[in-house]
Amino acid sequence: VTGGGLRGPADLPGLAGLPGLADVRADAEHCSYCPKLCRFACPVAVATGRESVTPWGIDRAIVAATDGTVTAATAASVYACTGCRGCGSACLPGLDLPTHVRAARAAVVEAGHAPAAIEDAAGAPAAPDDALVANATAGAPTVVLAGCQSADGGDLARVLAATGVAYDVVRVPVCCGARAVDVGLADDGLGRLEVLQALLVAAETVVVADPHCARWLQVDGGDARVVTLPAWLAAHVDRLAFPAEAEPVAWHDPCWLGRGLGVYDEPRAVVAAAAGATPSEAIWHHDHARCTGAGMGYEAVDPDGAAVIAATRAAELAATGASVTVTACPSAAARLRAAGLEALDLPVYLSRRLAHAADGPARADASEPT
Ligand code: SF4
Ligand code: SF4
Repeated sequence: VTGGGLRGPADLPGLAGLPGLADVRADAEHCSYCPKLCRFACPVAVATGRESVTPWGIDRAIVAATDGTVTAATAASVYACTGCRGCGSACLPGLDLPTHVRAARAAVVEAGHAPAAIEDAAGAPAAPDDALVANATAGAPTVVLAGCQSADGGDLARVLAATGVAYDVVRVPVCCGARAVDVGLADDGLGRLEVLQALLVAAETVVVADPHCARWLQVDGGDARVVTLPAWLAAHVDRLAFPAEAEPVAWHDPCWLGRGLGVYDEPRAVVAAAAGATPSEAIWHHDHARCTGAGMGYEAVDPDGAAVIAATRAAELAATGASVTVTACPSAAARLRAAGLEALDLPVYLSRRLAHAADGPARADASEPT
């Protein structure tokens, strides 16, 4: 059994701590005697109908694991979690299931019961998009991290250029390590974090596009320089010129941005400026927004369950009647598109609106960058 705080190859100075099984046992035990008030909020439990993968069922498996019972059944429970924190919004004690799950998955890996699919879900160091590098200013105090899941670096580069703010990028392949830690490969993830932290040492502000990476760096990594892309854009959106005509859009709260970091208002303000209209809300929104099934490797381990979750969320967003849904997570946007919804990650949507404005009358003049 893995006890105490897990550590990477070196003692990372900013790391607030990555709890092991012994650290989460008391909370997991508390959860396993709770009357499951959160059950309706868990997308995996709802999609699969399996009691063993409710938050309560997962924590029951985790308590058994802390007693030394780590089996294939433990793996089946603890890999049935997207890390969405939906249970946390409904949980009176406010338990943190993703932290319990990370600790348990590390123990499952150690015991040799991890699903083979986790290797592909662990992410990998990625080089920045050529367009981001081409527009970067070496040594600029603001450093932008797109994240390894984004294939839209060209759109992000266009949006950043439109703000007029000089930025730099990390010019070698990097990964923050969050996905590796999520799936139980704790040493790999912490090693990647250590490499990235060393490369960011001169940055004053680190703008992180993927909210999953942002939470890991800011909360788990203890890095106060980290700001999410939507929050950063909200402070610069008055520099952007968007088309005169409004467009009906819906907004999907990414789990790691909303429940993970409490960032709700800023992306709505940015989308409202770009669309010329307040974005529509799905029936479940803000801290009760439903997950798309994209998190913590769940879609790799149970693609059928993840597809049901994505289809459920896509239907909720389609019911708004908006022609396009905007979110701020490349993984969530991809899952919604796979479910048949027109869904765009925020940089892609903003880039399209900027391009549209360039072809016609803009609604507002962009102010000069300072
Ligand atoms: S996550 Fe919270 S509400 Fe859900 S079963 Fe555990 S203690 Fe109860
Ligand atoms: S974090 Fe999400 S998927 Fe995981 S147990 Fe809680 S509600 Fe279910």
